[in-house]
Amino acid sequence: MDALTPPPITEPPDDQPPVATAPTQSGPLCKACGIAAVVHWLRRPTDSEVTEAAAVEKERRAQVLLLTDPQLPRPEFGPLPTAADMTRTVYACASHAITLEAAALLHQSRCTAPNEADLPACDCTPEAPPQTPPTEPPPARALPAHWVTGDA
Ligand SMILES: [Zn+2]
Ligand SMILES: [Zn+2]
Repeated sequence: MDALTPPPITEPPDDQPPVATAPTQSGPLCKACGIAAVVHWLRRPTDSEVTEAAAVEKERRAQVLLLTDPQLPRPEFGPLPTAADMTRTVYACASHAITLEAAALLHQSRCTAPNEADLPACDCTPEAPPQTPPTEPPPARALPAHWVTGDA
């Protein structure tokens, strides 16, 4: 009579995903040289970037319509995004940075900055960025005396 032999111990398959090696650099990189960026500014999107964004938005809307209960009213979508609604961020390292004044402006889509030939300026005429109206502080109102705590 054979002795009961335990089933051979099989090593569990090594199905752990390989540990992703951390990238040597994280965050945005300089558009000119590819090292870690320290500054950025905005520019208008190019035509192809606008087309791409509109295509993504159309796809999203198609998905929404697909998932919408037909009993419910059709969702209303606004106009597709245009260049006026979008900006793109340009990153640069310290040695490829344009001036602070230029970086505060919104550059044209064809702006080639940071381009060594034009630094620390750029080859476009940037526009003033959309202004957000300054938020007015609420008017100061005196609290009743018996609500004021602390040192008088
Ligand atoms: Zn650089
Ligand atoms: Zn520019």
